[in-house]
Amino acid sequence: PSSSTWPPNQITHMEPSSLPAAASTPSSTISTTTIRRRKRKIVVIMGPTGAGKSRLSIDLATRFFGTSEVINSDKMQVYAGLDITTNKITLEEQLGVPHHLLGAVDPTKTVFTGSDFRKLASEVISDVKSRRGLPLVVGGSNSLIYSLVTKRYDPKSDVFNGPDPHPVSSELRYDCCFIWVDVCLPVLNQYLSKRVDEMLDSGMFEELVEFFRSGEHTRVNKSGLGQAIGVPEFEAYFKKTPGFRRPEGGGDFEAYDEAVRRIKDNTCQLAKRQVGKILRLRDAGWELRRIDATEAFRAVMTSDSGGGGRVAEIWEKQVVEPSMKIVRHFLDE
Ligand code: ATP
Repeated sequence: PSSSTWPPNQITHMEPSSLPAAASTPSSTISTTTIRRRKRKIVVIMGPTGAGKSRLSIDLATRFFGTSEVINSDKMQVYAGLDITTNKITLEEQLGVPHHLLGAVDPTKTVFTGSDFRKLASEVISDVKSRRGLPLVVGGSNSLIYSLVTKRYDPKSDVFNGPDPHPVSSELRYDCCFIWVDVCLPVLNQYLSKRVDEMLDSGMFEELVEFFRSGEHTRVNKSGLGQAIGVPEFEAYFKKTPGFRRPEGGGDFEAYDEAVRRIKDNTCQLAKRQVGKILRLRDAGWELRRIDATEAFRAVMTSDSGGGGRVAEIWEKQVVEPSMKIVRHFLDE
């Protein structure tokens, strides 16, 4: 079920009100500026695919900001279906933190656009705010983040793609705390390759078999979920290997390995493009707070099965603690 319908957590988190507290301000001193509504505070966790954005959001939401709610900003994860292939956070991993716009959109309908995201995510933000919660926008699609937070959004202007992209606007309609989870690309690429193998081991192949065998691939929008990394790559494999089965002979193995290799390449390319877009936002003056998670990923890549404790320790020290400090300071401002 879509977690966007979840009831909110109990409200324990004290966030500075978006309006000055009338009782604490002598009426004679209230000026038009102080009663003007301040911009609403949101936290945006951005970064390339695989960098640990979801994990960080749960760490922040559970350990400190008791009423945080996550709004997904990955444009493939908004669709229902292909949960393993698109790498959605599982219900178990969510640890009770409410998630919105995750698997919430029918993939057979029209493509989910930046305008759709702007409308739906801003409604969710208003709801979360009405519960005095903290909205955490989490996901790698920078175009969705841009469409949501920019003051004047023009759906016709593309600020990231094409030979002559439109200028990035730095006028924002929310008070945003941008946390950019970064991992040096060679280390991230190594990790992403391992992650693809793990996803295949944990059911991605079977999920895609079902997707193609059931004919779902013909029903989903080709420009939407049909573009998820894994779909075109395995479509080529199933064309060469009839019977929706794992490889059995020489030719099968070649086609399978080719599909896996292309998935790994395309995932690494995606990560590189995403970092390029983040740099574009930063160069345009967006105040992004970069958190370097490289050491934690290096530890993942070098640790054997008993090294989990060390990874968790590095993650805590180098990623969670600085992020908590940034958010705490942002909320106190
Ligand atoms: P923009 O942010 O400008 O829309 P973009 O389309 O290049 O840029 P993403 O939103 O990050 O960037 O996605 C690009 C492509 O990467 C998607 O069209 C899809 O093929 C693939 N992709 C992105 N996220 C996922 C995901 N979670 N699972 C599978 N594939 C994905």
